[in-house]
Amino acid sequence: MQDTIAAISTPKGTGAIAVIRIDGEKSHEIAKKLTKLDKIEYRRVYYTTLWYNNEILDDVNIVFYKTPNSYTGNDLVEIYCHGGILITHKVLDVILNSGARLAERGEFTKRAFLNGKLSLIQAEAIYQIIEAKSELSLKISLENLKGRLGEEIKSYREKLMRILAEIEVSIDYPDDIDSDIDMILKGLNEIYETIKEKVEKSKKGLHLSSGIILTIVGKPNSGKSTLLNRLLYEDRAIVTDVPGTTRDVIKGEIDIKGVHFIIADTAGIRKTDDMIEKIGIERSLKEIKKSDLILFVLDASTGFTNEDEYIYEKIKDYNFIPVWNKCDLGKKIERFQKESVQISALSGEGLRNLEDKILDKVKNIIENGESSHVTTQRQLEILERVKMYIKSALDNFDFGYELDIISIDIRKALEELDLLSGKKFSEDLLDTIFSNFCVGK
Ligand code: GDP
Repeated sequence: MQDTIAAISTPKGTGAIAVIRIDGEKSHEIAKKLTKLDKIEYRRVYYTTLWYNNEILDDVNIVFYKTPNSYTGNDLVEIYCHGGILITHKVLDVILNSGARLAERGEFTKRAFLNGKLSLIQAEAIYQIIEAKSELSLKISLENLKGRLGEEIKSYREKLMRILAEIEVSIDYPDDIDSDIDMILKGLNEIYETIKEKVEKSKKGLHLSSGIILTIVGKPNSGKSTLLNRLLYEDRAIVTDVPGTTRDVIKGEIDIKGVHFIIADTAGIRKTDDMIEKIGIERSLKEIKKSDLILFVLDASTGFTNEDEYIYEKIKDYNFIPVWNKCDLGKKIERFQKESVQISALSGEGLRNLEDKILDKVKNIIENGESSHVTTQRQLEILERVKMYIKSALDNFDFGYELDIISIDIRKALEELDLLSGKKFSEDLLDTIFSNFCVGK
C-alpha cells in the first residue's frame, strides 16, 4: 500500500488561512476521524471542527477528493485551518500521529505525474509558475501547463514515427526504394530544420525564465554604482567618490515592463598596476562575455576620454548602449550622439528612456523566448540530443549506409523525445525535478 502523506501547502509563517493536504488511501479515514464527519460528499466544502482526544484543535473548512478526481489522482483531503504557526503545526502533528507521514518536496506533484494527471513538462511548468519572476515567463509556463510544448513534442514524435514506418516498409518491400528514399530524406530534413530552429530560439529564450543579463561597465567614477542603485531603487552597491571602489561584481534583479533582468555593476575598467583592482577588472571582462546587453556608462561632464576608448575597444563587438551620465553637470557628448541615452543617475532624469532603449535592444531575446516554450536546461539538452541524432541519421544517408542503420538514430531521437515528455523517465530524474519543489506542493 502506498504511504499516506501530509504537509502544510501554504508558506511558513502566519496568515489568515493555511492549507494542509493529506494524500493517499488513509487520507479520508484520518480526516473523518478528526472531524467526526461520517457520510461525506466529495468536492464539497464542509465547515467543521477538528478534534483530537476530545479536545478542539481548530475550526476548519475541509474538502474530500475521491480518486481519480484530485490533484494527485489519489484520495486526497485539503484542510483549510487558521494560519498561525502553532496551530498549523499542531494540526499537522495530529495528522502525522494518525497514520500519515510527512510529504517530501514535490511529492504531491510527483504522485500526480506518476498517476498520469500531469506530464513531466506540465510538472516543470507548475514549478516555474511558482518561481516565475516576470510576466513573460509566467505566461510561457502557463501555456506549457496547458500543454503547448507537449503538443509540439507530440508533433515531432508523430513525424519521426511516420518516417520510421516508411523506412520499415522500404526495407520490407525494396522494389520502389528510390522514391521512398526521397520521401524519407525530405521528411528528415524538414524535421531537422524545425528542431534546429527550436534549439536556437530556445537557447536565446531560456534567459527569460532566469533573467536577461545586463552588465554595467564604464571607467571609475562614471556613475555605474549610482545607476545600478537607481535601477534597483535601493542602496545595494557602495557609492563613493574614490575611483575604483566597486572592486567586485555586484548584482541585482529588476523587472522592466514584465521582463526580468539580472543586472551587474562591474569594477571600473582601466589600465592599472594595483593587483586587487586587476582581479576586479578580470572579473568585469568575464561578466561582459556572459552578458546579453551592456550599459556603457560615460561621463557627460568630462566627455569621451582615452579611458573610455580603452573600454570601448573591449566591448565594441557586443550588444551595448552608450549611456551619457551626469548630464546635470554638462553635455560634452561628442561620441554616439544618435544611439546613446542621456541620463542623470543622481536625479533619475532620462531613466525611463534608458529602460525603453534596454527593452528595444533585447527585443529579439524576448520574441525568441515567447515562441520557444522550452523553459528548462533539461528540456533544452534533450532537444539538442534529438537534433544530434537526426543530424547523424542524415549524415549516414550521405555516407550511403543501409536504411536499418539509419533507423537506429531515428529510434534514439524518439527515445529522447519520450524522455522530454516524461513518457519514459528514471527515478533519478524525478528526484532531480521534484526536489526543487517545496514541501506541500
Ligand atoms: P562608479 O565608480 O562608476 O561606480 O561611480 P559612482 O556611482 O560611485 O559615482 C561616482 C560619483 O559620481 C559619486 O559621487 C556620485 O554621486 C556621482 N554621480 C553619479 N552619477 C551622477 C550624476 O548623474 N550626476 C552627478 N552630478 N553626479 C553623479
